[in-house]
Amino acid sequence: MSKFFSEKYKDLVPYTPGEQPTEFRYIKLNTNESPFAPSPIAEKYAKDAACDLQLYSDPECRELVKKSAEYFGVDADEIIFTNGSDDILNFAFMAFCDKNRPAVFADITYGFYPVFAEFNGVPYEEIPLRDDFTMDVEKFIGINKTIFIANPNAPTGIALPLTEVERIISSNPDNIVVVDEAYVDFGAESAVSLIHKYDNLLVTQTFSKSRSMAGARLGFGVACKEIIQDLNTVRYSTNPYNINRMTMAAGIGALEDNKYFFDNCKMIAKNRLWTTNELRRLGFTVLDSQANFIFAKHNSLGGEFIYKELKSRGILVRHFDKERIKDYNRITIGSIYQMEALIETLGIILEENK
Ligand code: PMP
Repeated sequence: MSKFFSEKYKDLVPYTPGEQPTEFRYIKLNTNESPFAPSPIAEKYAKDAACDLQLYSDPECRELVKKSAEYFGVDADEIIFTNGSDDILNFAFMAFCDKNRPAVFADITYGFYPVFAEFNGVPYEEIPLRDDFTMDVEKFIGINKTIFIANPNAPTGIALPLTEVERIISSNPDNIVVVDEAYVDFGAESAVSLIHKYDNLLVTQTFSKSRSMAGARLGFGVACKEIIQDLNTVRYSTNPYNINRMTMAAGIGALEDNKYFFDNCKMIAKNRLWTTNELRRLGFTVLDSQANFIFAKHNSLGGEFIYKELKSRGILVRHFDKERIKDYNRITIGSIYQMEALIETLGIILEENK
């Protein structure tokens, strides 16, 4: 740390992103990326947009907003685009949390929430998931804090039914409920349809996973226009050009290719089922996932041991060094070839460690 670093950040423990190795080609199942390339239309539009990089991008993202508003059945002033959904989650902490409006989220959920809270000087509470990692919804009813729910949750993959999400939203009318739907396209129910019913709901989604654009950084939020206005105030006060031209163009292309998107989501769900069954056959406990990853622990081998063994054999998964989940690994669902390689390798590791 330099002697110049601000007092307010000196104790900050930053988020640790999953490994992004460059030196070796792993089968990469550690950061929930899609195994499929982006839509060819998205790729073409991004290439075309590269020719105009001397110009700033449209800070209002008008074409992208128009297309996505049509897709989601909302008005153009009910949607905001950001640099990945991490960007909008940070904006939500900035805009809707402070000492009088602390944040609340599950103890086992997206690891960036506590970091955003610390970064923005927001007090927060973590509510433990039940022993089976499901959410204890009653504990979020009428809680009087700004609520963050990842649905499906990460790293568990467990989804909350929309009726339960709605119960939380309706019981907290004086606080914003942020429903982080980064993985919703893989099998959960979206809360977007509720934004006209509740003025305290913000739904965030991303093009990173189901639309194969993690490297482009495109996320968005859907909410009533007043919430979107607040988020735009924060955005215009930090970086109005947070979506670059190529990403914006790729996003438009991705929205023009919904068949490609639906087919890929279907394929992930199919591969998830196959992998879950195979892992259970090998003696793993696998949580029921509606996401593009599964959370699994072996009945005799430890989580870190399996993570290291897989890595040494060229397969990267994500292990979290947190007491409650240290026996587990989060495994991204990839192509069937990647999943077959995973199962075969795990079979060898288990055979060697009988
Ligand atoms: N929410 C959850 C639950 C996530 O796991 C992630 C991915 N790390 C994000 C949001 C952010 O993804 P992105 O910034 O790529 O949209």
